[in-house]
Amino acid sequence: MFCPVCKSEYLEPYTHCDQCNVDLVVEIPAGDSDMEEMVPVLRTNNQPLLAIFEAALTANNIPHYIRGGEAASLMPTNAVVIVPPEHLDTARGILFDAENSPAAVEPKI
Ligand SMILES: [Zn+2]
Repeated sequence: MFCPVCKSEYLEPYTHCDQCNVDLVVEIPAGDSDMEEMVPVLRTNNQPLLAIFEAALTANNIPHYIRGGEAASLMPTNAVVIVPPEHLDTARGILFDAENSPAAVEPKI
């Protein structure tokens, strides 16, 4: 479920975005043509990895969006990084490097 306004992803049983005060939709409505053509390359709640990956994408001039993550309400949801299909292979290579970066390893509790 997604908020059509802030584009945050919510997990069930949420049906309402408290931040925007609108009902969630199953999919982001059409009209966001750029977003719609983009494909997910990473879905994670690993914030260090997310930060490294995003910085690497920026450094490589790969356009990308991040949906969800810490912007969501009470229950933390995974952030989804989406990139244009033509950059997917490159982004996956960058992700591989990011995942193998020592800083991306989540601390064990
Ligand atoms: Zn919202």
